[in-house]
Amino acid sequence: MKRFFTSILLVLFAITINAQEQKEWAITLHGGAGYYPPDAPAEQVAAYMASLEEALAIGQEILENGGSALDAVEQTIRYLEDNELYNAGRGAVFTAEGKNELDAAIMHGNMLNAGALTGATTVKNPISLARKIMEQSNHVFFSGAGAEAFADMTNVERVDPVYFRVERRYEAWKRANAGEGSVKELEQNNGWKMGTVGCVALDKDGNLVAGTSTGGMTNKKFGRVGDVPIIGSGTYADDLVAVSATGWGERIMLNVSAHTLASHMRFTESELQQSMDYLVDEKLNPREAGFIAVDKFGNISMKTNTGSMFRAASDSEGLKIIAIWED
Ligand code: ASP
Repeated sequence: MKRFFTSILLVLFAITINAQEQKEWAITLHGGAGYYPPDAPAEQVAAYMASLEEALAIGQEILENGGSALDAVEQTIRYLEDNELYNAGRGAVFTAEGKNELDAAIMHGNMLNAGALTGATTVKNPISLARKIMEQSNHVFFSGAGAEAFADMTNVERVDPVYFRVERRYEAWKRANAGEGSVKELEQNNGWKMGTVGCVALDKDGNLVAGTSTGGMTNKKFGRVGDVPIIGSGTYADDLVAVSATGWGERIMLNVSAHTLASHMRFTESELQQSMDYLVDEKLNPREAGFIAVDKFGNISMKTNTGSMFRAASDSEGLKIIAIWED
C-alpha cells in the first residue's frame, strides 16, 4: 500500500515537473484579432496563412541558431510591417483624416527596459525605431515629430507618408466614408479590420521579449494613442512572461491588459494558461481582444474572444501552429 502511494506521488511529481519543462526557445506571433468569417475567400485565407508561416520562419531561424529574442521579435515584426496584408507599417489603416499614423513598442523582460513610439507618419519600420529608443535613449516613449527626429539621429529609415497608403484600401476607405457601404464590402477583404502585428519570444539565453506594431483603429481621431505603445497595456515583458495584445485598444488599455496577465502570474503563482484565461475570460468582455504570450519555460498561450486571431507559434520541442479561428 505504501509503495502504491509512493508511486502515485512520483507520477504526480513527474506531471508537475513535466508541465513546467524548460524549452530551449519558443516564439509566437499574431497578425491581429477580430471577426474573420470562416467563409472568407480561399485565396485570401491562403495568403494570410502563407505570410504567417513566413513570418514564423524568420523568428524561428534566429532562435534556433542561438540568436536573441530581441532580434527574433524585431525581424519577425519587420516582415509583417512590410507586408501590406497587415495593419502595421505599409498597409496601415486610415485615420479620420485619411492618414496612416503608426504606434509600436518593444520590451525586454529580463532587462525591464522598453522603447515605444506613437503617431509616426514617416518611419518605415516602427518596431526598429522602438528598439533604438530602448537601446539608445534615456527615455521609453516618444511621440510624433520627436520620434521622427530620433529616427534620424539613429539612422532608422524614413519614407514618404504615401509609402504606407495601399491605394485600393484608400479608395475603399474614401468610399465608405462617403456612405457607399462598409470598408469591408468595398474592399472585399474581410481581414481588413484586423492586422495589428505582434511577436513574443524566449531565446536560448532565457531572454523574454515582446513587441507590437500597428496603424491603430480605422477612423481614429487626431492624436489618438492606442494600447500598443503603452507599456503594460498592449505590450509587456518581465522575467516571467512576455505578452502582446490586439483588439479594441481602449478596452485593452482600461484593463492594463498585458501587465494584468503578468501580475496575475506573479502574485497568484499561476501557470501561463490560467492567467491568460483570467485576463480574456474574466477581465475583458466578449469580442474585445486577443493576446499571445510566452513564459520563461517556453510555454506558449494564444487566446482571443473575438472569434479569430491570425497567429502562429513554434518551439524547440517541435511545436508548430498556424491558425486563424478559435479552436
Ligand atoms: N489594438 C490596436 C489599437 O487599438 C488595434 C488592433 O489591434 O486591431 O490601436
